[in-house]
Amino acid sequence: MIRGGRQPDGTFVLASDEDGRRRVEAAALSWLADIRCLLLDMDGTVTLGEGALPGAVDTLEAWKAMERDRVFVTNNSSHGTGHYVRRLNRAGIPTVRREVMTSTDALKSYLSALSPDTCPTLFPLGTPDFVGELADAGYPLAAVPPDAASIRPDRTGGTGRPVDFVVLGFDTTLRYEKLDLACTLIRAGVPWIATNPDRVCPLEGGRVLPDCGAMTAFLQTCTGIPPLQVVGKPDTLMIDLLRRDRGLDARALAMAGDRIETDLEVARKAGIRCIAVLSGVSTLREIVDSGVAPDLVLDGIADLLPLLRGLSAQSPKEVRP
Ligand SMILES: [Mg+2]
Repeated sequence: MIRGGRQPDGTFVLASDEDGRRRVEAAALSWLADIRCLLLDMDGTVTLGEGALPGAVDTLEAWKAMERDRVFVTNNSSHGTGHYVRRLNRAGIPTVRREVMTSTDALKSYLSALSPDTCPTLFPLGTPDFVGELADAGYPLAAVPPDAASIRPDRTGGTGRPVDFVVLGFDTTLRYEKLDLACTLIRAGVPWIATNPDRVCPLEGGRVLPDCGAMTAFLQTCTGIPPLQVVGKPDTLMIDLLRRDRGLDARALAMAGDRIETDLEVARKAGIRCIAVLSGVSTLREIVDSGVAPDLVLDGIADLLPLLRGLSAQSPKEVRP
């Protein structure tokens, strides 16, 4: 069900009755016609754990049938692109590689912009998938020396080569030695970059895992030095990258997600349309209180389906190119 949205004059209204829902729906149909590429958060938006959320498969199929693009955008850097492609396919959502973007892609883009002519040496704190994606992209990688006693307080850290950047992902294989070397390098003046600000990663059943934001706090508390950049949502790097690579205008993009501080905030910062879903972390009350004023608030992504049908039913001259 539609719970709220923006009116053409920009004001946010709660759709608390049938009349309110009709007004929000009419406003949404006018801008949805312009959307060529829908960016979708995964957990809490289209999937929960390993399965698709109710109605997500049909809604995404209908979107594709309208010959519009969709890209699944995740802050989770603990897995590579291939993992998400397989996971979405297993959940019944046919997906190819170009439809998935992770914060590791944003990191690689950021590093290219910082060092356009060289391939900087990195010390990665991350899972084998994260390290593998950086190695595949051609970055020379430093590793923890086999003997912790050989860690040195300089820009090599005792790894045998000067390190240009420490890069921190959502490292579910974190060990004390990696934290020790990262902090030593940062203290020696090596700049560091984190993939995402999420403090926790929610699991099915209400349990949460410590995420990259918590690990960022560890490095910053230990060294007193903040990261040069946190590249995942709500930073707009992933959206900037998509717009540049696919030549998309901001008016042709909408972001659908469940978290205020990442999904809804990145849409606001990037100046693109924002669809909030209540099937994940943030509640309607929290969204209203946050002041982010999404263009549309839905109980779940499945509530987009009647709107897409409404869009298809409009006469061709009413659907702007
Ligand atoms: Mg989410």
